[in-house]
Amino acid sequence: MKQRTTGNIPQKGLTRSLDRRGTRSNMSPPVAQKQRAPEDPSVCDSCGSIYTAKTWRRNRPLPAKLINAAAWTICPACKQAKSGEYFGRVLVRGAKASANLDAIRSRIANVERRAEFTQPERRIVSSKWDGATLEVLTTSQKLAHRIARELQKAFGGRARYTWSDQDGALTAIWQGETRLPRT
Ligand SMILES: [Zn+2]
Repeated sequence: MKQRTTGNIPQKGLTRSLDRRGTRSNMSPPVAQKQRAPEDPSVCDSCGSIYTAKTWRRNRPLPAKLINAAAWTICPACKQAKSGEYFGRVLVRGAKASANLDAIRSRIANVERRAEFTQPERRIVSSKWDGATLEVLTTSQKLAHRIARELQKAFGGRARYTWSDQDGALTAIWQGETRLPRT
């Protein structure tokens, strides 16, 4: 697997990888991929997101006159979260990470909450601490990127981004210390 690694966002790489279809063994379509549009309006049976005017939105009440007309479905984010599919991965490492784990976790939860308000398809799929690394999987590359950037802003240190040439998934590594070890 070929990978590009850089401290900055490779703009070209990002554009390219967004065009790329995710390849997963179960062949379920990634969020970035075009899918057959649901009926307008539709309501997600799992999270309550509303689909109308070609967009899924959360926390937006459906006008009363439309409720009876709305179709029930499962939104792309819920489908994806259920299948465990992810296109972003954040790795939080270093002594500063374990010392500030609670603060880091609540900061990450904040980023997700803000993202899901306007873009419910951007979600955290899972979050796992193994004693040395906190691994956060997200449905979108952009959310992973935003999380790493927020951690850098709040706690300092450095973030590094790696795009997989294979499926366009983004791995963002944030380390509280200024020097990143070679991996
Ligand atoms: Zn949903």
